[in-house]
Amino acid sequence: MAQRMAMDRVAATYFLEAPVTTARFVDASRARLLAKLGIETVGDLLATYPRRYLDMSTVTTVATAPIGETVTVVGVLDQVSLKRPKPRVQLVEAALVDETGVMMAVWFSQPWMARKLVRGMRVALSGKVAFSYGYKQMSSPFVDVLSTPGEETPHRVSVASTGLIIPIHPGTEGLSANWMRRLISSALADSSGVLDCLPEDLRRRHGLMSLGAALRQIHFPQSMDERSQARRRLAYQEILELQLHLMLRRRASERDTVPTAHLVDGPHLAALRAALPFTLTGEQDEALGAILGEMAEPRCMQHLLLGDVGTGKTVLAAHALAAAVDSGNQAVMMAPTGVLASQYGLKVGPLLDAADIPWALLTGSTSVTQRADILARLSSGELRVLFGTHALLEPDVVFDHLTLVVIDEQHRFGVEQRSALLAKGPGADMLAMTATPIPRSLALMLYGDLTCSALHTRPRAGAHVVTKLLTKRDTDRAKAYDAVRDAVEQGHQAYIVCPLVGVPAKRRQASYEDSPGDALQVLDDLDSGIDISDAKAAQQQAAFLARDVFPHQRVALLTGRMRPAEKDEVMGRFAAGEVDILVSTTVVEVGMDVPNATVMIVEDAELFGLSQLHQLRGRVGRGAHDGEVFLLASAKTDEGRERLGALASTEDGFELAERDLATRREGDILGVRQHGAAVLRLVDVSRDAGLIEAAHGDAVALLAADPDLASERLAPLAHEVAVTFARLSDETVEGG
Ligand code: ADP
Ligand code: MG
Repeated sequence: MAQRMAMDRVAATYFLEAPVTTARFVDASRARLLAKLGIETVGDLLATYPRRYLDMSTVTTVATAPIGETVTVVGVLDQVSLKRPKPRVQLVEAALVDETGVMMAVWFSQPWMARKLVRGMRVALSGKVAFSYGYKQMSSPFVDVLSTPGEETPHRVSVASTGLIIPIHPGTEGLSANWMRRLISSALADSSGVLDCLPEDLRRRHGLMSLGAALRQIHFPQSMDERSQARRRLAYQEILELQLHLMLRRRASERDTVPTAHLVDGPHLAALRAALPFTLTGEQDEALGAILGEMAEPRCMQHLLLGDVGTGKTVLAAHALAAAVDSGNQAVMMAPTGVLASQYGLKVGPLLDAADIPWALLTGSTSVTQRADILARLSSGELRVLFGTHALLEPDVVFDHLTLVVIDEQHRFGVEQRSALLAKGPGADMLAMTATPIPRSLALMLYGDLTCSALHTRPRAGAHVVTKLLTKRDTDRAKAYDAVRDAVEQGHQAYIVCPLVGVPAKRRQASYEDSPGDALQVLDDLDSGIDISDAKAAQQQAAFLARDVFPHQRVALLTGRMRPAEKDEVMGRFAAGEVDILVSTTVVEVGMDVPNATVMIVEDAELFGLSQLHQLRGRVGRGAHDGEVFLLASAKTDEGRERLGALASTEDGFELAERDLATRREGDILGVRQHGAAVLRLVDVSRDAGLIEAAHGDAVALLAADPDLASERLAPLAHEVAVTFARLSDETVEGG
């Protein structure tokens, strides 16, 4: 009997890893549709969690839907039409019919709804009921497509006869939420008794339900409380697996390498200290102590140095570079832009010169002969410190003995780029720096294991920056333009930042600045109905401002779409004072250090994350003169106003980052997506901070007790981690 049960367990467990065609009702054509959703195995199918749940206790009929209340009605769409009541207004109108009557629904400026919705679809509409032209009507209601016409549903699920909470699974064309629910329900039945890879003692310690129960309850919860317990269990597992993966990967990359115990009190470092024109602040001393302490240990450092622009990170990195040189080795420091890399040359170069350390700068615009010379001196070991951009990642950039890798603005680089640079110095120490404050929970998700220090205050009490929140009305915009004009008259410079690069032929496909995270975010925003159809685009704005608003000032354009050499050229002219007004996208967020710039206007500020706006405003007030930042925003809701208001009321980047995470606007951009969305389906970096700490601690303890996770207790977990991440790295390679 016991053996029989064990066999069932094994069978159920293998079932999860089997191709999805093994599941009932999944034939080849349906498997193709599932593949579009990234579902290849039965396990993937079961990990396709509901997007949303429909609480049937709020469902009413059309006849009983009270006007003025927010409710859900379920019925069949009768007609769907796209109308143009005015030249610039697009309106999608649909009629929903149930046994008791007709509910009209309208969506403004969302023409794609007309493609998404078709006659005969069974849908649930959630929204506020109004009364208009003799009909009950919902304006921009939330739509859940329950089934599409012509689709034979296995058990015509009459919504009313199911439980009180209906899961709405993600579907795709030809495979409705209804079908997905059916497929998942039978796969769940066939996988009952699945082996739980989480050791029981861990589950007990954290009060986590079994895997089987969690899967059942996240898909078909009896109550939302049950659902949240199920989510917690599954999220814990996601985090634990990621932590184990990151730690195992790090150990693998360190295998067969000899970590360096750096000499941290050598002559070069002493000379550099002596050459400093100031003394380090207490905070800097503490952070430097932590960094040098880690470097001195015979293990691979992974240290994250957090601090706003101007808090003095670069000068600490210079100390670390000198320590690497004192140890007889080489060091490299990489920046995301050519301008930033050149600034190292200007700021750190003289310190290195004073400490008698040969250094060079390698970027995309380094000449061929210069590059050849640098590479030769680098591989011979004569050159000790190299600054640069992505150009450092080229395979022919070979070091003699690289033991320290410094990555500035680390979140601007992908996982692959960071490891490509690290691979040039097997066993090297890594110092990552970032001006975007990252809460510890997020740092753990990015690195698994790391040490961390933070700089909170600027050593030089710089100029003041005043942030003003304005509307987009012409009178307000005129105030901002006047401030720009005044500044230029006094010999200063200004930035005007726009959310979009350009307005493409098809307005809706407008994308944000170059980083993939931003583009994804726009798609999310579109889905959730945020309207970017009137957002300002840098290309058009630059032309308009130069012609109509600032005809007597020198206006230039800068976007991430421009070629690196072009970008460097424009930034160079602005830095040299040859341009008065720089119209740009968020490319200026990183690395622009023009002390003479005193005014910034941010168009459509409501479209940006707080951390991003904080970074942006850090571009002004960098010299002796105070800065002024105008945020032009249409904050329609109190929440939106309060969100942007936080910028006016605090200077603390860490606080703003926490707020961003809480509103989920920035977490993804910071790079958790680097691990692939597939792995982290349920984790919410802000809300799950406690769970992340717990799982991180557990991962450390598990690996300490059983380094290969080979025991009977942990082997299933090790297997799970291997399977999950083997597939992920395949995908990463494919995707480039
Ligand atoms: P970050 O890299 O964090 O942007 P930097 O290291 O470039 O900051 O420092 C910003 C400015 O402050 C630089 O001009 C630097 O020389 C100066 N600075 C750094 N540390 C100190 C200090 N302890 N006292 C005075 N000035 C400092
Ligand atoms: Mg810096």
